[in-house]
This record gives sequence, C-alpha cells and structure tokens, in this order.
Amino acid sequence: MNEFLPSCPTIAIWNTDCALITKIIKLNSNIQIMNPEKGSISIHTENIFPVIKKFLYSDNEIFLRELVSNAVDASQKIKRLASLGQYNGETGELIVDVKFDEAAKTITISDNGIGMTAEEIKKYINQIAFSGATEFMEKFKEANDANEIIGRFGLGFYSAFMVADTVEIQSLSYQDGAEPAHWTCDGSTSYEISTGTRTTRGTDIILHINDESTEFLSQARLQDILDKYAKFLPIPIRFGTKTSSEPDGEDEEGKPKYKSVEVDNIINNTNPAWTKSPSELKDEDYLAFYRELYPYSMDEPLFWIHLNVDYPFNLTGILYFPKVKNELEIQRNKIKLYSRQVFITDEVKDIVPEFLMLLHGVIDSPDIPLNVSRSFLQADSNVKKINSYITKKVADKLNEIFKTDRKGFEEKWTDIGLFIKYGMLSDEKFAEKASDFCLVKNTDNASFTIKEYYEKVKDIQVDKDGNIVYLYTHDAAQQDGFIQTALNKGYDVLVLDGPLDTHFTSYLEQKGGEKVQLKRVDADVIDKLIQKDEKIELSLSEEESKKALEVFEKAISRQDMKVEVDALREGDLPVSVTIDEFMRRMKDMAKTGGGMNFYGSLPDNYKVTVNGNHPLIKRILSASDEEGAKLAKQAFDLALLSRGLLSGADLTSFVKRSVEMI
Ligand code: ADP
Repeated sequence: MNEFLPSCPTIAIWNTDCALITKIIKLNSNIQIMNPEKGSISIHTENIFPVIKKFLYSDNEIFLRELVSNAVDASQKIKRLASLGQYNGETGELIVDVKFDEAAKTITISDNGIGMTAEEIKKYINQIAFSGATEFMEKFKEANDANEIIGRFGLGFYSAFMVADTVEIQSLSYQDGAEPAHWTCDGSTSYEISTGTRTTRGTDIILHINDESTEFLSQARLQDILDKYAKFLPIPIRFGTKTSSEPDGEDEEGKPKYKSVEVDNIINNTNPAWTKSPSELKDEDYLAFYRELYPYSMDEPLFWIHLNVDYPFNLTGILYFPKVKNELEIQRNKIKLYSRQVFITDEVKDIVPEFLMLLHGVIDSPDIPLNVSRSFLQADSNVKKINSYITKKVADKLNEIFKTDRKGFEEKWTDIGLFIKYGMLSDEKFAEKASDFCLVKNTDNASFTIKEYYEKVKDIQVDKDGNIVYLYTHDAAQQDGFIQTALNKGYDVLVLDGPLDTHFTSYLEQKGGEKVQLKRVDADVIDKLIQKDEKIELSLSEEESKKALEVFEKAISRQDMKVEVDALREGDLPVSVTIDEFMRRMKDMAKTGGGMNFYGSLPDNYKVTVNGNHPLIKRILSASDEEGAKLAKQAFDLALLSRGLLSGADLTSFVKRSVEMI
C-alpha cells in the first residue's frame, strides 16, 4: 500500500501572478487512509486553478473530452485486465454515462471501469504530474492554447476546475476487497478524502458547476460537445435525462415540476469505419460513414483512400475526395484528427499537406497525443513522416484509379483536376508522381497525359528553332476565331481555363518536355506563334506598306495598340488584334497572386497586325482618304469584335457604320 503514497511531495510556491517564488518546500506527508482525512494537493504551485481557469477559458468545453476519455480509458483497462486474466470478475456491459442536473447544478460522468482506491486517487489525482516548476513557468509563458498546458503537464482531470467550483470523485476499485473512496476538492490545493458510497465497480466524477459555466447545464450544449469529441469513442457513451410528463411536485415559484427519466441514448458509434479493415467494407459503407461525418453535406464524395499503417508510426483513417468543382473556393478544415477515436481537432494543417486540405475525412493516430498543440505538431518528426505518407498514398491511389479505370478518371477530372494541379504546383514529390496521370484536354474535349500530349504535337507544332509550341485557350468561346485558324492549320489547341492554369502553364513549360513553349492562341497571328522556315513574300511595295501603316495608325489611334504591317497568307484575316504572351502571362499571374505586382499595374499590351497580302489593303490604298480610313476602321473594329473587345460608344459607331455600308 505504501508504494502508492508519496512520501515526500515537493511543493513550489508561486504567487497569484505566477511568478515563481523560488522557495521549494519539502513536506513530509505521513497521510493516514482512514476518514475523514484532509491533505494538500501535491502540485508545484500554490494555487494553480485560478491560472488554469483564466488561461483556458476559451477552450473550457474540453473538460468533457478529458473526463469522458478518462472514463473510456478506465473501461478499456478493465477489459484488458480481464483478457489478460488479471481480473476474474464479470466486466459486464461497459458504458460511460454523462448526466446533468440543472437544479443541483451538477454534471456527472460515470463509468464502470477499473475504479480507483483512495491510494490511487492520491497517487494519480492529487499529484499533478508537473515535470518541473520551472519548466511549467517557461511553457506557461510560451503556450498558445489550453491543449498545450494540459497535454504537457497531465492536467486532464484538472480541466474540470475550469467549469466547476467543487469536484467530487466516488470510486470503487476492481481490486478484491477494495473500499469505496470519496474525494472532494474545491479548487484550492486542499482536498478531503473519506469512505465513499459506490457499491459497484467504477467511478463517478461529479462536477459542481460554477456560476460562470452554467451554459454547460444544458442538453443541447452537452450534446454538441459530445458530438464533437465523443462521436466515435470505443466505449458506448450514454447521454441525457429527459423530462417525463409525470408530475413531481412544484418548484419554488409554484410551477409544476416533472420527473426526469433516464433515456437510453447512446450517442456514439464505437466501431467507426476507419477502425475496420478495408476488406470488411463495401462502397456503401464508405458512403454511409461519409454521411455520418458530414450529415449536412449535399454531395457524395468521388472516391476515398483508406489509410492504414503501423510502421514507423501508427495511423489509420479514411480520406475522401469531394467534388471541388472549378472554383478555388476551398473548404478547409474538413479533415478531423483523432487519437484513439477521441476527437482532437479539425486543424490538421501540419499533418496534412497544404494541397490535401481540400480532402474530407478522418485521420487517427495514437502517435499524436490527445492534447496536441501547434508547437508540438511543428516540431514532431512523426508528423512530418505522416505528412509525406499521406501525400504518397494519395498519389498512389490516384495512379491506381487512372491505370485501372482511365475513363472514370477522365470523367472525374473536372472535379479532381484543380486539386491535382494545386498539389503539383505546391509539392514537388507529389508533382513527380502526378505527372504520370495529370491530364490536359484539348478543344475537342479529348484527354492526354502530359507525355502523350508531347508525343501528339511534337512533330507538327515545332517551329524553325526546334521549339515545340503548345497552343492553348483560356476561353474557347471568346477565342473561337483564333482557335479555328489554328485548327485549320492542323494544329491542336489545349483548353486551360481553370483558376490555377496561369501557373500550370508555366509548370508545363518547365516540366512538360524538352523545348516546350506554351502560347495562347491570341498571342500572335498563327504563323508567328509557330514560325516555320518558309518565308511569305509581302505583295506591297515599301511605300505602299508605309502608307498602309499610316492609314491604320490614324484610323485606330490608340495608345495601347501597336500597329504592324506584315506578310500573312492571302486567306488570313486582314487585321488581327493579339496580346503578347509574356506580358499577358505576367499580368495574369499578378492577378492570381503570383506576386509580380509591377506587371499587374501595366496596361494591356496589344498588337494590331495588318495583313499586307489581303486584298482589302490594296483596296484601302486605292480608295479616297475618307473611304480608306473608314474601311481600315471597319476592319480593325471587326478584329476587336471577334475577340470581345468592342464595347460602348465604339460598338455603337461600328454598328452605325456597318449599317451605312450595307
Ligand atoms: P491522464 O489521463 O493524462 O493520465 P488525468 O489527469 O486525466 O491525466 O488523469 C490522471 C490519472 O487518474 C489517469 O491516468 C488515471 O490513472 C486516473 N483516472 C482518472 N480518471 C479515472 C477514472 N474515471 N477511472 C479510473 N482512473 C481514472
């Protein structure tokens, strides 16, 4: 028995401001077990509770998580002892009860687990496991959240004092001949221990809720907290008393009171899908579990990955791929982190790679402590391994779907493409794997891997310098004129119209194959985009060419448009308005957060190419000045119109002029 007794607890005293008074008092505690007995809680601070309370105020709902998971642990311990043959009694139906009594202002958490003897209460409860007073002080200053303090110093049970003035323990140990024990503590460092009243194995923790925390004396509030933290605990949690219609006298104001009856309301699923083996689960089980996790979600997930690893760390879980659609409006914090089925947090930022934050689902790892804190996550080496394991699993799964069901994969591309591109742009390891199954689509809606596309165009879309030019559009409807011109030449045009495609364009250029260049179809006239060796002769004399330039410059007279007369094919358009690839791309990047604000502030940089070989130019040159200007303006407006750049007064006068001309 004496082995449980702290023979010489150490008490360090802090004043209320938590400044360490460096005095360390050694107390000789020669405590007797018989009741009633008073004692002093062996923590290394004079009065830590006001500090805990104040500090932890924002997170105070976690008291319930701590106490319920203690009760679950105690229940699992008795199960284990029984299975090891160290407990020969009946374990019975293990259950944790959470009850509250609004009138008495109590919340009670009961279990029929291993229970505690008076000695054990003293050992486990009275001595708060500080690793050292100085360390506590240091950490207290640095700590960012309640979890950090609770986790590091084993204050789980004491979180009860965040919401309670007085806490009672009634417990009966499973050990043969154990006496029931009753412990009370009012949040100061003194406690009282006496013989208890429990007649069956297990523990009741009774919280006398303080005046500031009466919000917790509510069915709805407690139900919410339990839903959050206890929904998948491995031991059944029963919650709730219900008011019956049976009268039970009157209250102080003379209003009728009703009897409260216990309702058998198990609030948790003790065996959630992620704890099962994938071979036990069918698609509908995964979908049903998804609905259990997100009862309000309208969409079904596209597919999922069951995570299951036990070396070099222990981790299980299910990650779901949601329908992301073509928006960057990303639903973060949808992955829930558990430790042995106890919910910890939905801020999984450091565990899950940034780009996988779009996923939904559950990760459970006992290697992540219950009281996990931000600083822990950032420092922990397991967390880094978990992070790269998840990345690898996700890439492998996508690759598997791609290989086994390419058609299905192509159909899902609209939903997963954004996420895969996001991953490739932000995570090099993922990009390496994903380059095998990342798809690009062309204007015929045909899909290719990056390699396949390279093979498709490398011999046709090669310019005189050996560059392989991928043509793309960001808006097939608006750039139809340019697209048709390219297709007529036997070229292919990619559709890159997603929110990340500005960045993905550069990615393809760097990693998509040797000498690959991407050019938007409206970046220049087609023969300039892919410049071949053959030279087209200009059918204008130098003088005519100069004159044509003058006429057009005058007719257009816009600062942001540079006019050129060039030798295109006779059948090409007389006038085209294009926008330089490089400048436009820099501007686009600046818009989507590429950081290059200098470019963002520059005006658009258009080029007007007048096709000197088009018959219209000859006509303009031989017409009167007035007629020539009108025709030039008309041809230019048509070019603007075809790319959606004609609006307002310019559009009105174009329509008017057109009517006159017809
Ligand atoms: P932790 O759970 O992190 O060890 P706590 O302060 O929550 O820290 O609990 C301290 C110890 O008290 C537990 O490790 C356990 O031995 C004991 N304990 C707490 N609650 C119970 C309970 N309901 N039944 C049996 N033992 C308990």
